[in-house]
Amino acid sequence: MKRYSPEGATPAMAQWFALKAENPEALLFFRMGDFYELFFDDATAAAAALDIALTARGTHAGEPISMCGVPVAAAPAYLARLIRRGFRVAVAEQTEAPRKGKGAAKGPLARAVVRVVTPGTLTEDELLEPGRSNLLLALVEGPASTGRGRKGKGAEKAQKVQADTPLGAAWIDVSTGLFETASVTQASLAGLLGRLDPAEILAPADLALGDFDACRAPEVLVPGVEAARQRLASAFDVASVDAFGTFSDEEAMAAAVAVDYVQRSQAGKLPRLTHPTPQTDGGILGIDPATRASLDLLRARDGGMEHTLFSAVNQTVTAAGARLMAEWLSAPLTDVVRIAARQDGWCWLRDSTSCRTALREALKKAPDVARALGRLSLGRGQPRDLSAIRDALHAARAAAAALGDVSRLPPYLSKAAASLGGAQELEAELVRALAEDLPARLDDGGVIAAGYDGELDGYRGLRDNSRRVVAGLQTEYASRYGVASLKIKHHAQLGYVIEVPVGASSRMKDRDDLMFRQGTASNARFSTEELAGLDARIAEAAERAAAREKAVFNALVDAVLAEQTLPVLAKALAVLDVQQSCAMLAAGGSWCRPDVTDDTAFDLQACRHPVVESALPKGTRFTPNGCDLSPNRRVMLLTGPNMAGKSTFLRQTALAVILAQGGFPVAAEKATIGVVDQLFSRVGASDDLARGRSTFMVEMTETAAILNQAGPRSLVVVDEIGRGTATLDGLAIAWSVLEALHSTVRCRAIFATHFHELADLVDTLPRLAPHTMAVREWRGQIVFLHEVLVGSAKKSWGVHVARLAGVPASVVDRAGRLLKELEREHATGPKPLPLFDTQKILPHEEENTLRKRLSEVDPDTLTPRAALDILYELHKQAVQEEGSPVQG
Ligand code: ADP
Repeated sequence: MKRYSPEGATPAMAQWFALKAENPEALLFFRMGDFYELFFDDATAAAAALDIALTARGTHAGEPISMCGVPVAAAPAYLARLIRRGFRVAVAEQTEAPRKGKGAAKGPLARAVVRVVTPGTLTEDELLEPGRSNLLLALVEGPASTGRGRKGKGAEKAQKVQADTPLGAAWIDVSTGLFETASVTQASLAGLLGRLDPAEILAPADLALGDFDACRAPEVLVPGVEAARQRLASAFDVASVDAFGTFSDEEAMAAAVAVDYVQRSQAGKLPRLTHPTPQTDGGILGIDPATRASLDLLRARDGGMEHTLFSAVNQTVTAAGARLMAEWLSAPLTDVVRIAARQDGWCWLRDSTSCRTALREALKKAPDVARALGRLSLGRGQPRDLSAIRDALHAARAAAAALGDVSRLPPYLSKAAASLGGAQELEAELVRALAEDLPARLDDGGVIAAGYDGELDGYRGLRDNSRRVVAGLQTEYASRYGVASLKIKHHAQLGYVIEVPVGASSRMKDRDDLMFRQGTASNARFSTEELAGLDARIAEAAERAAAREKAVFNALVDAVLAEQTLPVLAKALAVLDVQQSCAMLAAGGSWCRPDVTDDTAFDLQACRHPVVESALPKGTRFTPNGCDLSPNRRVMLLTGPNMAGKSTFLRQTALAVILAQGGFPVAAEKATIGVVDQLFSRVGASDDLARGRSTFMVEMTETAAILNQAGPRSLVVVDEIGRGTATLDGLAIAWSVLEALHSTVRCRAIFATHFHELADLVDTLPRLAPHTMAVREWRGQIVFLHEVLVGSAKKSWGVHVARLAGVPASVVDRAGRLLKELEREHATGPKPLPLFDTQKILPHEEENTLRKRLSEVDPDTLTPRAALDILYELHKQAVQEEGSPVQG
């Protein structure tokens, strides 16, 4: 951005320069009357982003000042667009009332930045997605690697963030008050980012954020450990943050950074936050970013929300319920007891139809308490935020009534139900206080109901009576001055005036009791002493009524904020909404309660992919498939042509795990799932060419990640490992990866491949179960049955699929003839492909003789001499094995 010198600026522009200097990273919305104006480069950038007219006004340093503006009333929509485009906006308001008369000459009105709007600190409904959290995430390196209080850009460049450096993470949702922290490592950071999907990130400049780099905020000052702990303690008014749990040094620092940032963005005001809650990674299913990306959990790969797991299962009726559901889907559990508790809840609702229906109806009327509280706590509340609290309290009582006797509910529901009853006095107060038809803004007046506040009623009465007197005067004046068309009107500048047609004015000009005020082409305006007096009384009463109404409103806001049970009640409503949503889904009959066990069982019966199923054209039925990965057949090899349904099958299996461990119903007839600790899914081409990595490189990096991280309780579903390189290379790699998964990692896995030759490995890998997608050939055409069968594909069908895809017939025919030729040569050739002659390959680890011999030894009974002998024997054997080349 071009730098302008404030020298020689007009007083108003000097003010602009001063405010801009405080907020150099943000566009400055400079309040002038009913507009927010932008100047210089801010104006150019905003005009382009908002597609509004760019004008010029005056000159500065010999150049015209570019300028554009947005009406204050329409500001939220414009703000939303700017934030979405990655801008930050500092809003400067007039902090003194417009001066009338002479005062206006005394230079510009005082202005101050009251708020910096950034993607991670939003509170307005217009700027937020109702069903998603909006998180600000702060990441800080552990104190060992951080200079205290240093500010980032230059000095620390030398010391890159190390892979094992502990990082403190703290995240805040300003709109709901959520505040959590965690300690992570570089290695687990990507997983956390994927799970939280933050809108804005505060992080050291040298910390790589991958796909989330676009969310980076300008770097901020990181306090030292002690300063951070004190900062937190004072923010929450406790002697020590230890009151809320155990925070590592880096967690405390991150939390302090986040709190500071939020407070600065709200011009020093701290919204109401829950106290920081440290989270441990334990208890949550590990889902790495590539897995998340391949499964379209909350957002589809095209960025939309439509074809996602969330949309397939969501039957919530409130925004808070949708947010909680998104949270559960993002972070499934690994604790079978907690999972079962969620299941018990919705199963009960599933089986109690009338309860469920009543609960759902009650919840439909529950507004977003958490977000209303967020705005109210920042002094940004409007009448509808108070009515939201009132209506939510009402809905909560209705929900409690729908659930009935708490003692017959399963614990998960009874706990939620117990939180619904509070704040009845507050509800009654709000019911009495708020007018029936609420205006959108407090300034519009008429928020507080008549009869609630005597003083307010008094002012209003005065105002309204005087108005009535004024209205009565019209007839009186008409006859007194003999002008039938005389009107009394209210005029913005003049107040109440008598208005008569120009023709009648000559008759009135000479009268002593009339003051001439203004003449237009068609009318003349007069006033009387009586009228002027009434006007002043009305204005004064109206002003007093407005001030009193604000005071009453603020007292109600204080009462709401003092009500400690509201956040708990909001959470309970959200929980019940997710529970009824699950129950609705399950009540349809095609979703089951999975049996989530503490072993490595795995058996899905007639399982479906809910998203693919719902996207199928009318009249097409989804073919359900079972998936048995029991311990003795825990690795499934899946072959079959493209388009046969392999990816769908892989994904639906992964989705079943996410649903089951999130405590949701599963799209299957029956499901038993031994808790999975980490889920790895690599399905569908994830070409990362934009980042300059070839498909094969990406594929191998991801394969490496799986082999290095997966363990015996993990589930791995991979599609076409080795597809990105030459056939023999690819086959060799697929083969060795399959072996490693089977025998070293020992996880449950589905391994989909084009290399149907791999099915021969079933002889050496006892827990490998080859399966294939059923296809049928009909009059030279291929028909996909989408059914998973035991066995292996006999051919690839590639040529058929090419025909299906519309490759010209001549090319397809030619390919068909070439294929026959190649197959014939292969069959009668001098030797088969060496790699498939499994007998000649190095013995596989499972039957490794060295291992076998070693395991027979009982070290406790060996003499030193015997041990040495065995060592020599094993060494000799090892050297022999290493030296025997693959035959070929
Ligand atoms: P592959 O991975 O083998 O190339 P996909 O899983 O992408 O195949 O499936 C291709 C298409 O076939 C899907 O988009 C869907 O329309 C259809 N399909 C897949 N599985 C099924 C099924 N079980 N029942 C019905 N249609 C299916």
